[in-house]
Amino acid sequence: MKPIVAIVGRPNVGKSTLFNRITRSRDAIVDDLPGVTRDRIFGDARWNDKLFTLVDTGGFAEGDDDPFAPHIRRQVTQAIADADAVVLVLDGKGGVSPFDADLIHTLRTVDKPAHFVVNKIDGEGQEKNMAEFYGLGIETLFPVSAEHGYGISDFMDALTATF
Ligand code: GDP
Ligand code: MG
Repeated sequence: MKPIVAIVGRPNVGKSTLFNRITRSRDAIVDDLPGVTRDRIFGDARWNDKLFTLVDTGGFAEGDDDPFAPHIRRQVTQAIADADAVVLVLDGKGGVSPFDADLIHTLRTVDKPAHFVVNKIDGEGQEKNMAEFYGLGIETLFPVSAEHGYGISDFMDALTATF
């Protein structure tokens, strides 16, 4: 069985954009409005010689953009439970939100490899936006730009080195 890697994070951080970049597909729906991805989307991914299944989560389909809503929490919890590894996407333009801390807490309670990326770091000049994320107490944070590709290969090397 190929490992399953779930992408989680609050709406609009760029989960679907990251999914599309890694799977080189347009399967996940990217939209300027948060809440477009319905439940979960699965895609085949390959990095060097490593094959895995990538999962885009959203589940904000019920016109409900409150990431703390119970049905969303259930979907995220289920996606994490079904995955072998989890990628938490943070928003390098939007900054740290309470939901981020909540998800980090959830990830600490499950015994699964977790990887943390700060998205929307569109180039070296935006690395300064990383500073506030270090306050979350995460050891390794990967600055990436899902849209433009910055930092993706370093992150993918690290992710796939674990399986
Ligand atoms: P999701 O709700 O987490 O799946 O987020 P989406 O992938 O739908 O992206 C939400 C918005 O963020 C869209 O307008 C994207 O174009 C934008 N976005 C995604 N990745 C990046 C990035 O690396 N840099 C910038 N500047 N914008 C991004
Ligand atoms: Mg999405």
